Amino acid sequence: MIDSARAAGRIRIADLVSPGIAAIRPYEPGRPIDEVERELGIKGVIKLASNENPLGPSPRALEALSQELGKLSLYPDGACYYLRRALAAQLKVEEVEIALGNGSNELLDLLVRAFCTPEHEVLAPSHTFVCYRLAAQMHGVGYREIPRGPDFSYSVDAFLAAVTPRTRILFLANPDNPTGVYLGEAELLRLVRELPPQVILAVDEAYREYVRAPDYADLLARRCERELLVLLRTFSKIYGLAGVRCGYAIAPREVVSYLDRVRNPFNVSMPAQVAARAAIGDTAHVERSQRLNAAGMAQLQAGLERLGVRYIPSQANFLLIDVAPREGQEVFLALLRRAVIVRPLGGYRLPHHLRVTVGTAEENHQFLTELEAVLG
Ligand code: PMP
Repeated sequence: MIDSARAAGRIRIADLVSPGIAAIRPYEPGRPIDEVERELGIKGVIKLASNENPLGPSPRALEALSQELGKLSLYPDGACYYLRRALAAQLKVEEVEIALGNGSNELLDLLVRAFCTPEHEVLAPSHTFVCYRLAAQMHGVGYREIPRGPDFSYSVDAFLAAVTPRTRILFLANPDNPTGVYLGEAELLRLVRELPPQVILAVDEAYREYVRAPDYADLLARRCERELLVLLRTFSKIYGLAGVRCGYAIAPREVVSYLDRVRNPFNVSMPAQVAARAAIGDTAHVERSQRLNAAGMAQLQAGLERLGVRYIPSQANFLLIDVAPREGQEVFLALLRRAVIVRPLGGYRLPHHLRVTVGTAEENHQFLTELEAVLG
């Protein structure tokens, strides 16, 4: 029936979606190793494209998961009781101040879904993590970018100047993806205090465990300074659990109660709950990952300096590098053919940049060797 109507030209699927949905450019994830090996018929591909942990998952998480796999026929605990309790104890917050999500990605989407209407707008710095924009677009909410200072630096004055009566959420990745820049404590606290009180300040701390800057703010300890402060965190990075999809928000209990209303009933899988809960206690894995990242970051920086390739100093587990005058996409493809996957950033309107994740010492070496060959 529909097919015949379509054949007769009466239904245009594009007419069935809102202009906002039609305008969405889907998220482009890093290319998976298997896919690249299949496509190019090569082996030994390394992936430095999705800011994953090169040490793999927390061994404690793997052990806990293996014990629970027999329960895969059961629905997970929709309230994430044990994980919530473990997080609350670790963070010294109330259990009702934690919202759990299918990755922190889901939580930023839920924030927009719960708190924004088409009359509102979402703000975020230019060139930042694209999922903030996607979340706004998906819900028909306006999205406005805030300009940055030199070398992609954040400017609190620019944030404050951007706010209008329509502004409902300001997303701030700290440190930022894909630039790796961060906002130091003094300026961040100024933002916490001076941002108008009706704006939700959502600080995305996905990479917080990698930060080495001494003036990185512990916002958890500063929650009393602002009511509408939401911290977003994830198990995908330092805990090495990107595959299970688990993230959380720390927020006022009432905010959490609204996020709860708009989420799907079983949004966090059983493996995610089990692995995340075990990973929290695995401080040895976190410390190993931090040490590996610090050493790898130094190795990459030294190598890039030797090659004369400009990069933005980063507090995270990746580096934004500038391959101008070459096109990022072209260098990305050349590296791909040499078995190294990095991230091109055309979608971030950074056509001459690439983002490279810090890998193991061998992976970093391989990347630098191939980059040198590609840049000639
Ligand atoms: N925030 C930032 C800044 C990120 O870079 C990412 C992952 N790329 C996420 C959130 C989402 O992470 P996840 O959904 O895996 O928790």
